[in-house]
Amino acid sequence: MNILITGGAGFIGSNFVKYMVSKYPTYSFLNVDLLTYAGNLENLKDVEEAKNYHFVKADICDKAHITELVQQYNIEVIINFAAESHVDRSITNPGAFVQANVVGTQVLLDVARELDLQKYVQVSTDEVYGTLGAEGYFTEETPLQANSPYSSSKAGADLLVRAYHETYGMNVNITRCSNNYGPLQFPEKLIPLMISNALEEKPLPVYGDGENVRDWLHVEDHCSAIDLVLHEGKSGEVYNVGGHNEKNNIEIVETILESLGKSKDLITYVEDRLGHDRRYAIDPKKLTTELGWKPKYTFETGIKETIQWYLDNRQWWERIKSGDYMEYYNNQYAGK
Ligand code: NAD
Repeated sequence: MNILITGGAGFIGSNFVKYMVSKYPTYSFLNVDLLTYAGNLENLKDVEEAKNYHFVKADICDKAHITELVQQYNIEVIINFAAESHVDRSITNPGAFVQANVVGTQVLLDVARELDLQKYVQVSTDEVYGTLGAEGYFTEETPLQANSPYSSSKAGADLLVRAYHETYGMNVNITRCSNNYGPLQFPEKLIPLMISNALEEKPLPVYGDGENVRDWLHVEDHCSAIDLVLHEGKSGEVYNVGGHNEKNNIEIVETILESLGKSKDLITYVEDRLGHDRRYAIDPKKLTTELGWKPKYTFETGIKETIQWYLDNRQWWERIKSGDYMEYYNNQYAGK
């Protein structure tokens, strides 16, 4: 199988590329990424020499370029990870999210349709469902009620994917996963931000009362779910991905501090994120019963391994934190 993976230099995409390139030596993988602030080719150094792996810098919104690449590499399947992915950035600049997430998805769908590809997989998020109260779970039937510019751009993309199935009969799947954590995550996201700040003895900024609940999944378990959906997913179906690991933000921060032997005095409560969703929790029953998916990590084993990875790869995140990122970070938390 010849597979186009978009956004493969980002956090989940690079973990997925590495997972697939070693698992399927007879498949061929083309990674297309625009290398925005979130894309980092250093994430892929383990696979850059592999015979079944190629990288091209390109924008998924550039239809002529994507069409040319799909033809040149005889692509049969597209898996779309490419996106603007950070909720806080979407609040200050929604336009960039509509462009990459909605227009980019539509371009990829058009290319897949016009060149009659076998399959299209959209990597989406549980955030499209909006927020939950204290009880209940998101199922695939939960209405889309996205609340942030990020999640609404992802919901818009999901609806386009659905429309291309309904209208043109395209073979598509959508995966909607809970919050991921693990190696190679950009240190603007909660877990790597807290680990790296704690290691630098910097304040740990916690939004609001710290009680917002997220459902956490190790990135490798997300990769195995996408692999399964790619091979076994039924055309037109949505699959929720999650491992029943609900934690509130303050629990996560305290776990990290405890594990690193750092003081809770580093915790600094900051003004809440605008429109901050209170609770996400995934019901993954469809994926576990219909496709037989099972996560490998518990949160306890996954977080331990992840903290160790950030301890062992200090240079990786220090380089990122010393660049343009700091300007964004200082603006984000200035005066809060
Ligand atoms: P990320 O921000 O780390 O990576 C996104 C990648 O997309 C980057 O490498 C970036 O350079 C690339 N990109 C952005 N715009 C592009 C464009 N126009 N053309 C080509 N490449 C472009 O994001 P991530 O956390 O790895 O998320 C990957 C996907 O998974 C996203 O679609 C996201 O919505 C989804 N998702 C993420 C999570 C999570 O917890 N991180 C959970 C569920 C779903």
